[in-house]
Amino acid sequence: MRCLLAIVGRTEHGENKLQCQRLGCEREGISVYGPELVHFKCWSTELALIGDNLHNLLRSRFGISCIHSCGCQEWIKRMNHWGPEGCREHLESIVDKMLTSAEKRNWKLDGRPLLSAAACIGTKCSWGRKYTRRWACKLVLEAIERSERSLAKETN
Ligand SMILES: [Zn+2]
Repeated sequence: MRCLLAIVGRTEHGENKLQCQRLGCEREGISVYGPELVHFKCWSTELALIGDNLHNLLRSRFGISCIHSCGCQEWIKRMNHWGPEGCREHLESIVDKMLTSAEKRNWKLDGRPLLSAAACIGTKCSWGRKYTRRWACKLVLEAIERSERSLAKETN
């Protein structure tokens, strides 16, 4: 989803200072063009799109982002398309994909040593696997709930 940009000021050269108005994003940029012609990918974690929400949660909380060829982009699109109901239905396969990526790319959960340790041993010991699975599950559900909140706000 694109940022919801607004003009928040002007530079000394007369360019627009733009900032995203969505909670948790607040990306800034400078452009000679108005908000309607500038497109940033939004970092908000309060979006209607669940795939983007989940990615932004991972990015903001744990510094985990997509890399080229990780295959996450396809899953982000898929989850965006599924919506809350579809994502709940496919929860297990979403979690599987997350844990596969976590293992392959050795995700480190900064600031959470216990989880970080569990993530490292996640595939080798059953306790770690259970723990990381619960962590991933909770995060996906949070992305879904944030999306539901956002959708409720849109229809109000
Ligand atoms: Zn934004």
